[in-house]
Amino acid sequence: MTDDEAMLRALQLAAAAQEWGDTPIGAVVLGSGGEVLAEAANEREKRGDPTAHAEVLALREAARVHGDGWRLTGASLVVTLEPCTMCAGASVLARVARVVYGADDPKAGAAGSLWDVVRDRRLNHRPEVLAGVRAEESGALLRAFFRAKRAL
Ligand SMILES: [Zn+2]
Repeated sequence: MTDDEAMLRALQLAAAAQEWGDTPIGAVVLGSGGEVLAEAANEREKRGDPTAHAEVLALREAARVHGDGWRLTGASLVVTLEPCTMCAGASVLARVARVVYGADDPKAGAAGSLWDVVRDRRLNHRPEVLAGVRAEESGALLRAFFRAKRAL
């Protein structure tokens, strides 16, 4: 699966998160050959878990499937919105090779916007970052979600 195909899938997962009242964010983890290791949507509200971000759920599942303990060497984390500090940190800890994201998150993004956890030179592992993949679609989904929420 290409980055673009993975992002399309992540956008579908993001849209589904709205069904249970979660902010529409979706993530897919690809193995080094582009195979899907795991996918998840944001389930913070659904689980009542502050750490149940799409990225964390997908990284956990991917590690289980990948078969190299906790290491996701060669993997790509593909997510619709720029990861927060927790998720950027999790991607570093998981040793993913790449973080691919859609829309920038100027309020909480930790892959270049507000912080840059993934490319901090003080860390010994720094995933490559590819930003802006289908950013417009991700942004539109989020804006529509918050607009509907405010209208309630
Ligand atoms: Zn997060």
